[in-house]
Amino acid sequence: MNTLPARYAVVGNPIAQSKSPLIHSLFAQQTGEAITYEAILGAEDSFESLVGGFFGGGGGGLNVTVPFKQSAWAMCRQLTPNAARSKAVNTLYQREGELAGANTDGIGLVRDVRDNLGIEIGGRRILLLGAGGAVRGVVPALEEESPASMTVWNRTTERASELARDFSGSLTAASIDELRGQQFDLIVNGTSSSLQGSLPEVDEAWLASGCCCYDMVYGDEDTAFVCWARGAGASSAADGLGMLVEQAAESFRIWRGVAPETGPVINRLRTRLPGRP
Ligand code: NAP
Repeated sequence: MNTLPARYAVVGNPIAQSKSPLIHSLFAQQTGEAITYEAILGAEDSFESLVGGFFGGGGGGLNVTVPFKQSAWAMCRQLTPNAARSKAVNTLYQREGELAGANTDGIGLVRDVRDNLGIEIGGRRILLLGAGGAVRGVVPALEEESPASMTVWNRTTERASELARDFSGSLTAASIDELRGQQFDLIVNGTSSSLQGSLPEVDEAWLASGCCCYDMVYGDEDTAFVCWARGAGASSAADGLGMLVEQAAESFRIWRGVAPETGPVINRLRTRLPGRP
């Protein structure tokens, strides 16, 4: 009989909009794993005690979202190589009695782009827009795909420079002026601008022939970035719903040792979004 703990949750602020409880309940149904998964509203000044209390009370695993990924990283006694490198943790669990952390955002992005959308990452020129926790979390997994180059732009220049310093040798920070004349095969919007219905700085001239544009944000309708990418002539444009399900599947696998099938869950979520056919 399975002796793993049964209680799981996601912590963030805000958290009411989270689709993680639905995704994990669909994984549990599909795999026959008996778990509960709830959404918990966290606060900056009590995040550490919340995590301690959750695991002290027999919890099996936590997902961590904005704005706690770096606090979670700082608390961990054990880290997967990708979490250590990105300094951001979205999946907490216990190993040998110690708090352990992984970052599954990167594998989520890579699996959605490479496996679900069928877009090659190896040998391609990648532009990352944004330098927050999400972009920080995906760089190690993108590195592993051996792209030809990785460039990061951010509205606050110093944050992009800091990220490029952390990943020196594989990531270059660029200003809008420095991006002039450059072309990319994969452009990932890792800013939260689509949540405000706006676009970060973008330029149609950046799109190489066959370019794929990917927005980490997802919504009931196409995001501002996905709409822009289609109009700009991208050969494909996708939002981050697939990444969300893929990162959740990797967390579930870490916690339960079982890899759920993601395709049916992505389809189920798409059909539940009000603005979708
Ligand atoms: P974060 O740490 O708060 O960073 C936000 C980023 O967006 C920063 O780079 C910020 O630039 C930039 N930004 C915000 N508004 C902007 C605007 N109007 N124009 C240009 N840049 C703007 O958040 P995060 O954790 O990196 O998350 C970013 C987004 O990715 C969120 O919307 C989140 O929901 C999404 N996400 C999706 C998944 C998924 O599975 N699909 C996973 C992780 C994250 P400054 O540094 O200049 O402020």
